[in-house]
Amino acid sequence: MICGFCGHEFDESEGRRGCGGCPGGCHSIHCPKCNYKNPLEPKYISKLKNILKRKGD
Ligand SMILES: [Zn+2]
Ligand SMILES: [Zn+2]
Repeated sequence: MICGFCGHEFDESEGRRGCGGCPGGCHSIHCPKCNYKNPLEPKYISKLKNILKRKGD
């Protein structure tokens, strides 16, 4: 995924999950570079995006 703040590309498993610092529990992936809280993207959404991308070609 790509960090929405600094644009750093990283793997979901690379990002920090469950940081313990977010109120109400962490449900996001923190960028390993800038610690920006990226909203968790369900897998079906990225699949959907791929389909849309293909259609656009
Ligand atoms: Zn970042
Ligand atoms: Zn967090």
